[in-house]
This record gives sequence, C-alpha cells and structure tokens, in this order.
Amino acid sequence: PDAFLSVRDLRVRFSTEDGVVKAVDGLSFDVERGKTLGIVGESGSGKSVTNLTILGLHSKKNTAIDGEIYLDGQELVEAPEKEMEKLRGNKVAMIFQDPLTALSPYYTVGRQIAEPYMKHTGASKKEAKARAIEMLAKVGIPQPATRFNDYPHQFSGGMRQRAMIAMALICDPDLLIADEPTTALDVTVQAQILDLLKDLQQEFGSAIVFITHDLGVIANMADDLLVMYAGRAVERGSVQEVLRTPKHPYTWGLLSSMPRLGSDVNEALMPIPGSPPSLLNPPSGCPFHPRCAFKDEVAGGLCSAERPTLATGRAAACHLSDGQKQSIFIDQIKPR
Ligand code: SF4
Ligand code: MG
Repeated sequence: PDAFLSVRDLRVRFSTEDGVVKAVDGLSFDVERGKTLGIVGESGSGKSVTNLTILGLHSKKNTAIDGEIYLDGQELVEAPEKEMEKLRGNKVAMIFQDPLTALSPYYTVGRQIAEPYMKHTGASKKEAKARAIEMLAKVGIPQPATRFNDYPHQFSGGMRQRAMIAMALICDPDLLIADEPTTALDVTVQAQILDLLKDLQQEFGSAIVFITHDLGVIANMADDLLVMYAGRAVERGSVQEVLRTPKHPYTWGLLSSMPRLGSDVNEALMPIPGSPPSLLNPPSGCPFHPRCAFKDEVAGGLCSAERPTLATGRAAACHLSDGQKQSIFIDQIKPR
C-alpha cells in the first residue's frame, strides 16, 4: 500500500450470548501523512471499533478480526501485542472524548505526560519533565512548570483535554486518532481545542483520523470524509465534495441536521426515520434500505437483495445510478 495508513477490507465480529455482532463489515480507507480523515456516523456505526482495532486495543477473546491494517508499511492486525505496545503512545497516539479515561486520578498530570516519553525514548526523568513542561506550554496551559504538579481534578475539563493532547503528542506520533475529542466541551472551548489540534498537526505533520457524529466539526477539521453506516463505509470523498454534493441517501439525511455548513445543503433535507439497524442481524442488501426513502427508485427490489459496493475514490455505496442521485439531489434535496 502507498498510503501512510491503509485499512483493507477490515471485518470485526464479536461473539455475544445473542449471536455474532458484525461491528465492522468490510471497511477500506487510506490516510496520507499530514492529512486528516474524518469518519462520521451515528453511534453503533463501527467508527469507534475501527479506531480501537487500529490501536490493537480489542481483546482477542470473543473477537474475530479479518483484513489488513498497514501503518507505514507495517501490518497491524497480525502484529504481536509486544509490537503494538511499542507503537501505542509512540508512533500512534489517541485522544478520547473523556480525558479521565486517559488520565489517572492518582498521579500528577505532569508525571502522566512525561511517562510515555521516558518509556519510548529512554529519556531520563529530568529530560522527560522538561519535555512535558514544554508540551504543556504548547497546548496552552498557563504556568506549565507549576501545573506540572497538579492532579487531573485540579484541571478544568478543557485543560484536561489539552493535557491529554500533550500526552498524545509528546512522542511526536505519525498517526493521531481522535475519537469525539471535543464532544463533552462547551462550544468556545471546543473551537479552541480544534484550532490547537490543527496548529499542532501543522507542526508535527501527523496524520489524523478524526471520529465524530458532528458534521460541523468535520467540515472544519478534515481533508477527506468517510461516512459509516452499520459497520460499513457508505460514502467517501473530499470533505468539500461530500458536504456540497452528497451522493448517498444516508448522507443526505445526516446533513439535514446541519443547516449552517456554508454548503449548498440546508434544512430542505429530509431527516432519517427509524433507528440504526441491529448489527446482530443486519438488513439484507443495502443496510440502509429499511430507512431509505429512495429504495423504490431502484428497479427489481435490488436494494433489499444486493449489497451495494463502494468503489474507490469519490464514491457512494448505493444502487441509484449517478444520474438518479444527481437529479434526486438537485430536485428534491438541494434547496432552490
Ligand atoms: Fe437507498 Fe437503495 Fe441506495 Fe440503499 S442502495 S441507499 S436503499 S437507494
Ligand atoms: Mg464512539
């Protein structure tokens, strides 16, 4: 694979008491160095499972993973846990919605930021402390040398998020996975954190996989966009392409909740009736067909019979022809 991060036909299944959950069902995508891929979808669409799989954080117990994940040419699905430990926090780092899942209440913030640096670079305690203070300053924590000694509960929510970013970036990772990193924050702090991430990406050149349900955030952060539904990718393209001329009925629905994107799409879009399908027993054919207002436009009951594939490049996994998509979008969805 040529791309820096390349996911190929990834399948993740969990065995549960009720049966097999197909959490990710044939997912492929690429991310280039220094670029941001946004992955958007409702909860249960497989976006968080995908990121945990890249990080090797799924217990192998009751979990079957197929497909390939290449990071800088190294395959990760088959990589031994020892290898993954070397990568995590070093070459690949992550930030989550809740910094308290990353920060322990029992140790100072500074110690926790310094630790991965010592572990992965073999730096001395003193060197790691200096580097951690430098990182705290970079993420905009005032009086970083003093704040180094604070415990997480002494930080505000926004400051904890900044501290987690400092911890994630201290080893200069090539890939940063951000899973709903600003969802819990108020709008002003959210905007500050997003700006910070963009600045740091410029400085560090990391590739970012940015996972969110918020298309407004994605519009402002990502270069490329992958829309996920029921464990599958249903649409892919550059952010501008997907947001300005979305091709998949699910994306049309998602955009209906985003009236002010600065795109051509607004409230004229239709909402999505019903709820996401169970991944224990996903619908036949197109997983979106039970909720899709356009399935009767496709002849022969194809929507419930045959799974549409997602071509490479700019594409949507939908049986509607390109002409149909364009005319439905222009006539019924794009406001005049
Ligand atoms: Fe709707 Fe059919 Fe397209 Fe699925 S394949 S999104 S059901 S039109
Ligand atoms: Mg999630």
